[in-house]
Amino acid sequence: MCSFFTTLHLLTVVIIDVFCLYYDMCLAMSLLQVLLVFAKEDSQSNGFCWACEKANFRCSMARTPESALECFLEKHHDLVIIDHRHSRHFDAEALCRSIRAVNSSENTVIVAVVKRYVISFFLFRYVENANMMACYNELLQLEHGEVRAQFKLRAGNAIFTALEQSQEAIEITSEDQVIQYVNPAYESIMGYQQGELIGKEIIEVPKSEKNKPDLLETINSCIRKGKEWQGIYYAKKKNGDSIQQNVKITPVIGQGGSQRRHSSMARIHSMTIEAPITKVINIINAAQESSPMPVAEALDRVLEILRTTELYSPQLGTKDEDPHTNDLVGGLMTDGLRRLSGNEYIFSTKQPHHLPSHLTTPLSLNDIPPRIAQTMENEDSWDFDIFNLEAATLKRPLTYLGLKIFSRFGVCEFLNCPEATLRSWLQVIEANYHSSNSYHNSTHAADVLHATAYFLCKERVKQSLDPIDEVAALIAATVHDVDHPGRTNSFLCNAGSELAILYNDTAVLESHHAALAFQITTRDDKCNIFKNIERNEYRTLRQAIIDMVLATEMTKHFEHVNKFVNSINKPLAALEENGNRILVKRMLIKCADISNPCRPQELCIEWAGRISEEYFAQTDEEKRQGLPVVMPVFDRNTCSIPKSQISFIDYFITDMFDAWDAFADLPNLMQHLDNNFKYWKGLDERKLHSLRPPPE
Ligand code: AMP
Ligand code: ZN
Repeated sequence: MCSFFTTLHLLTVVIIDVFCLYYDMCLAMSLLQVLLVFAKEDSQSNGFCWACEKANFRCSMARTPESALECFLEKHHDLVIIDHRHSRHFDAEALCRSIRAVNSSENTVIVAVVKRYVISFFLFRYVENANMMACYNELLQLEHGEVRAQFKLRAGNAIFTALEQSQEAIEITSEDQVIQYVNPAYESIMGYQQGELIGKEIIEVPKSEKNKPDLLETINSCIRKGKEWQGIYYAKKKNGDSIQQNVKITPVIGQGGSQRRHSSMARIHSMTIEAPITKVINIINAAQESSPMPVAEALDRVLEILRTTELYSPQLGTKDEDPHTNDLVGGLMTDGLRRLSGNEYIFSTKQPHHLPSHLTTPLSLNDIPPRIAQTMENEDSWDFDIFNLEAATLKRPLTYLGLKIFSRFGVCEFLNCPEATLRSWLQVIEANYHSSNSYHNSTHAADVLHATAYFLCKERVKQSLDPIDEVAALIAATVHDVDHPGRTNSFLCNAGSELAILYNDTAVLESHHAALAFQITTRDDKCNIFKNIERNEYRTLRQAIIDMVLATEMTKHFEHVNKFVNSINKPLAALEENGNRILVKRMLIKCADISNPCRPQELCIEWAGRISEEYFAQTDEEKRQGLPVVMPVFDRNTCSIPKSQISFIDYFITDMFDAWDAFADLPNLMQHLDNNFKYWKGLDERKLHSLRPPPE
């Protein structure tokens, strides 16, 4: 029997296609094998174990170079990840050389886990980051990049060996029917030498007269439609003899839909301005053209996902998820059920507060009462007690802490504004926070300002940001929840509140905080801290403040965290780009905003009590007004506060702070987070629902 591969594409495409088919076959037969070499279990090794499991890779763990080598000789892993952070455990470079000395290791990808920015002899390096999603992203990048390339090389070699050894005659042509390859069996059956055929058009090779006159046209039209042709064909040998053959001609084309894709691609290409996502979609479309069916279908699914707007939000299963997580996600990550009821929620402060006369008493850093100054002495420490300041200032901590922190960062000098203007501004902003809210009051704003200032002092953060970013971050933190009504976005949307109507049910509160902050500030020269800065500088500052306040919106939580994680995995040089500065600033304010689970235990408990009380009050009101209950678990009669905190930490906090710690280096916060998580777990194991255990 004699077989031909006739192709509608260039030879290179044929080869890639054939390889891809083989590659997919390989994948179907065996899962990716990963060897982790870590002397000790730690969060980094756990991160990779978890990532392997999530990616469905086979994972082996070795603790010593000897056992690593033994394991490698047995399994010939596709990917080896070696801990290269601590030279005291073992010599990672020596281990790499030993693995490379094994014959079959040439297609193995070896990656070293390194400390930040160390110079290392390894070609592939992963900068220490225990965040599970970062490990998972890294594995996927490797799988689709270097590991896949190695697979293809191996598969390519195998296919050529198979072609050379085949008993069947095989011929490969290009799309325009120029012969590209014939195998040895073809040479011996047909009597030609490779060199006589390669580069010739099929039409130039003599044909047998025994075939029916229209046979060639039938075959060609079949192939042009992308279909395989099989039948009896008389081939003419070099010596003139005709031999009857059962021939199979297989066109190797991208896939059935290539025509349709061409036309839509042409339309997209004709657009002069391409958004980045359009470029990505175009690249995938082009890759589909030359991919075999399974890959093309997988890419179709990728395209489907890319065309949605919710790229960064995990799709939470609804079946057996924990109800606390479900409620928090439903309550914080959506803009309500969009079932607007007739109940109007009357917003409590229709007219923004002007500067109350009792607050206009002269106040400057120099005349802060000593008792208050004393409580602020350690304001640069993470363990600073904001509730002491709240008590000492009779619930006006924002003004005092603001004066001290803004002065420490030289904000007045930067803005060229008198301290009196800053003082008035702080007072009027604080007056627009609702002291009646148990959580979203000016103490929360002061707490977020404190965390922001703390983060801004971290070396890596300082390196990444400019002075204008620092000023923007401090102002954004101060105003980020101004005039918060103590109800969630979902509530406002469900209640058809004026604000929800004004902002089209989209980022309602955050839009309001940002807009109101600028209204209050610019309405009156006395408190306009921006009055003396130049127009362009004002525009830049304003844009940065708005961006940060909007970033506190929880519907975008995973988008901001994932974008940040993706960007910090890039080299330092890339971090200095403007785009990355924006991601750092967003992450900074987000982490400051929900840093209460990372505060010392007593403070963390107090915050948990306050947020729970605010949620309970919302549920009470929803019931009273017959509105949908957005977070049913936050019912004061039944709620387990420990469970709600465990869910909040698990779902929103852990990954975010892992990433932020990997960037900014915050061991004390991570220690508190760990302690607090254990504290809530401890209460939950005792089936307690309260903030604290009952007295002995
Ligand atoms: P913001 O309204 O800007 O303070 O955004 C932070 C969101 O996280 C708010 O919706 C809070 O209700 C929520 N949040 C903050 N801390 C906690 C906590 N300890 N437990 C549950 N939710 C919290
Ligand atoms: Zn907040």
